Amino acid sequence: MSSSKNETAKKSGVARVEVIERYCKGCSICAEFCPTNVLEMDAFLVKVVRPEACIKCMQCELRCPDFAIKVHTD
Ligand code: SF4
Ligand code: SF4
Repeated sequence: MSSSKNETAKKSGVARVEVIERYCKGCSICAEFCPTNVLEMDAFLVKVVRPEACIKCMQCELRCPDFAIKVHTD
């Protein structure tokens, strides 16, 4: 992620949802728990498709059994 994108996220108050692809096994737990459909499955990998809809509830990060998703709020 470039620093300019981080700056944009900071200014707009939008969380940056990061998928650590080498850890993700595509179980879809995060996508199922996300209340605002930020996440979608793409075969065996989760994708962040609507980052602007993230309400920073942290469910995806808390529920992922593989520590493969992080929500950056700062
Ligand atoms: S819960 Fe974790 S391992 Fe499962 S799809 Fe989401 S990021 Fe990948
Ligand atoms: S923090 Fe909540 S709203 Fe944001 S992507 Fe994760 S589950 Fe969805």
